[in-house]
Amino acid sequence: MPKLLIVIPCYNEEEVLPATIEKMTALLDRLIRQKNAAPTSRLLFVDDGSVDKTWEILQQTVNENPLCEALRLSRNFGHQGAILAGMYDNEADIYVTIDADLQDDPECIAEMLEKVNHGAEVVYGVRRERSSDTFFKRVSAQAFYRLMHLLGVNIIYNHADFRMMTRRVVEELKKFPERNLFLRAVVPLVGFKSECVYYNRTPRLAGTTKYPLRKMLAFAWNGISSFSIVPLRLVTFAGFLISLLGACFVLKIFLNYNEHGAVSGWASTVTLITLFSGVQMISIGIIGEYIAKIFVEVKRRPFYIVDKKISPSAPQNKKQTTKKARTKSGS
Ligand code: UDP
Ligand code: MG
Repeated sequence: MPKLLIVIPCYNEEEVLPATIEKMTALLDRLIRQKNAAPTSRLLFVDDGSVDKTWEILQQTVNENPLCEALRLSRNFGHQGAILAGMYDNEADIYVTIDADLQDDPECIAEMLEKVNHGAEVVYGVRRERSSDTFFKRVSAQAFYRLMHLLGVNIIYNHADFRMMTRRVVEELKKFPERNLFLRAVVPLVGFKSECVYYNRTPRLAGTTKYPLRKMLAFAWNGISSFSIVPLRLVTFAGFLISLLGACFVLKIFLNYNEHGAVSGWASTVTLITLFSGVQMISIGIIGEYIAKIFVEVKRRPFYIVDKKISPSAPQNKKQTTKKARTKSGS
């Protein structure tokens, strides 16, 4: 029987945690009783530098609930950092990552296990539909997935970070040294046999989203710029196009020269200068974004830093030393 580790990132989730703990414990308990998972299987809650009562709740849970462990990061590293912290330093045969708000259906985990038993190494949780999302979230998410496809990035449509991976896949994942690890695009790069399970995304059980518009846009841009150089190519293409346009203008001015004598009107000149300065600034900005990315990568800062880990067998908070890992994009 495989040892299952269910990694649950939590950032200021005091409102939803009690319900999540209850539901996930019941699920894991059932899987163990049905002999689908080893009795050593655990739920691992990763507190990503919460400032509310998340850690207090987790400490109490670990003391009372033998299936739960908790890890606290030294500060907020972001969703991806929290997931990596949970997977990289904790031994298991099969890893699952699922959000704390239970928007993704935990019941799918049994189905995922079945697919792994039939030879899959990665099982992606895919949202069948998004009617529970706000209109804006739905449209922006769809636009994001379409854009990623257009830019040539291999990403599973409507799959976020609800997935099951075998130990083998996690070991291979560790070989990807990039700081800005965008898991939903990196996992398909690891390869191996993969399957999907489909579910309906429900509204958050409680609490509010930890991904406001600003963070969502930063996350989307990080995904695009980490996996595609098409924006840079577009800059080059725009450069050629504008040069061609400029050449046409020059030709037109020469052709009109005899008719009007001197070139008249500053409005057109000012318009062109403003327009082209804008295009140049945008182009430099895009190139700058990629240089910033190189800057972040060469620093090789940790993905995450673990403060402490608590488990039922070792309730005394065990201090841990610095681990490898990840900075938030741009930090
Ligand atoms: N999360 C995290 N660190 C952060 C932001 C979010 O660990 O800096 C966790 C959060 O607690 C939740 C998951 O990531 O378990 C997804 O966040 P959320 O549900 O707020 O995002 P949404 O579903 O609204 O996109
Ligand atoms: Mg959510």
